[in-house]
Amino acid sequence: MSLFEQLCTQARQSALLESIESLLGWDERTYMPTAAGEYRAEQMTFVSGEVHRRRTDPRLGEWLHELSSSPLAADPHSDEGATIRQLRRDYEKRCKLPQLLVEELTRASVLGQQAWVKARAADDYASFAPHITKLYDLKRQQAECLGYPEHPYDALLDDYEPDARTSEVAAVLSALRDELTPLVQAIIESGRRAPVEILSRHCPQSAQETFGKRAASAIGFDFERGRLDITHHPFCAGMGPHDCRITTRYDETFFPSALFGTLHEAGHGIYDQGLRTDWFGLPPGTYLSLGIHESQSRMWENLVGRSRAFWEHFFPQFAADFPEAALGASFDDFYWAINHVEPSLIRVEADEATYNLHIIVRFELEQALLTGDLKSADLPTAWNEKYRQYLGIAPPSDADGCLQDIHWSAALIGYFPTYSLGNLYAAQFFEAAERELGGLADQFSHGEFAPLKSWLQRNIHEVGQCYTAAQLVERVTGQPLSHAPLVRHLRGKLAPLYGLK
Ligand code: ZN
Repeated sequence: MSLFEQLCTQARQSALLESIESLLGWDERTYMPTAAGEYRAEQMTFVSGEVHRRRTDPRLGEWLHELSSSPLAADPHSDEGATIRQLRRDYEKRCKLPQLLVEELTRASVLGQQAWVKARAADDYASFAPHITKLYDLKRQQAECLGYPEHPYDALLDDYEPDARTSEVAAVLSALRDELTPLVQAIIESGRRAPVEILSRHCPQSAQETFGKRAASAIGFDFERGRLDITHHPFCAGMGPHDCRITTRYDETFFPSALFGTLHEAGHGIYDQGLRTDWFGLPPGTYLSLGIHESQSRMWENLVGRSRAFWEHFFPQFAADFPEAALGASFDDFYWAINHVEPSLIRVEADEATYNLHIIVRFELEQALLTGDLKSADLPTAWNEKYRQYLGIAPPSDADGCLQDIHWSAALIGYFPTYSLGNLYAAQFFEAAERELGGLADQFSHGEFAPLKSWLQRNIHEVGQCYTAAQLVERVTGQPLSHAPLVRHLRGKLAPLYGLK
């Protein structure tokens, strides 16, 4: 066996263990009996410890060192070159983190999440503030151990959006903020409000399940290689080249939750199913970044699933399946209702336009917390101030303010911007797909989604990690990442609905 084959075998075995961990995690969040929690935590900790041990094996370091100067590594974008480059990157990053810091971070995040649950329930930020201080201290240490090109936040962002720079993300997100704030303001001032009561009419769960599965299948999620199950906090988990699990939750008096949630997770699933199976467990067959993953879910959820054309095809089916909900509702009312924009306090319930402002608030605050410019005690005030500034509303309580998300308590710092990057990538990719394929809306209105899906698979899924996200965007769209396509998309859709110029 050649050295490269040896490397691939070792990496595939680590991926095999990770897929077992993923299956354990999926089960924990869907079907596991509650009493099994403690032993499940032991199982998962054991498996992830094994993965870490294998991925930091000194022999792996030697192989990677040798292979890095071999002809196989000459082209960094070839499958072999990307494999060597990305495995080396992962190896070196893992080796830079002292075991003690990793353990301290794990402990702080377990305690942080427990404290967060209590603090949120009691609306008691003061009891959670020391955890914020501790977690940000540890993450600052992590950034120092890893090193960074410009800003300590670069090192944290890199875990979720490899190779992205804080300064570049900040530039594109502040440009987006400066366009969105007046757009949202103009929508409020229009005084127009969509007939959103349609959305809270009764829709039986079983009919929602059937409809959701039909829609997911229509856009291209393959149920022979995946499943849809129920959970509290929907997610998508890949656990093998032909096994992708998506999840949703049902609300009988608010159907958009399950339907758009299913389209979103199916979008993630279509990406996983579009990866090259012969490279499963290796960088060319692995998703590129969280932002790129999110671009796929947002594209199917928002750019396709909330488009007029999509509903020209699906609305008659919706009316037939949910006669009670569709009673007297015109197509135009329905389309407006699912695209209604209104500033709200809770990120996960936000509409397509205001959602990004929720993210920008978090992105700006976590940088300030990391550098120490913002003290944890002052977080609620800073949070409320930004909400007033960007969304024109302020939370009446911290439970609906800075305590609403689990991320920081779980040491997921640097994660939030990937949600907005996903929206930006999605809009830019979609424009490129329309330029190349043409007539997408017409295809959607006939229930044809395969051309877009194949385009995404060819241009994005099958690339795996052979390019960075920034390179991929340039290759696929001919332009660097920009806020402009998303703003064009939102303006184009919302201006007619709200009578804006
Ligand atoms: Zn997602």
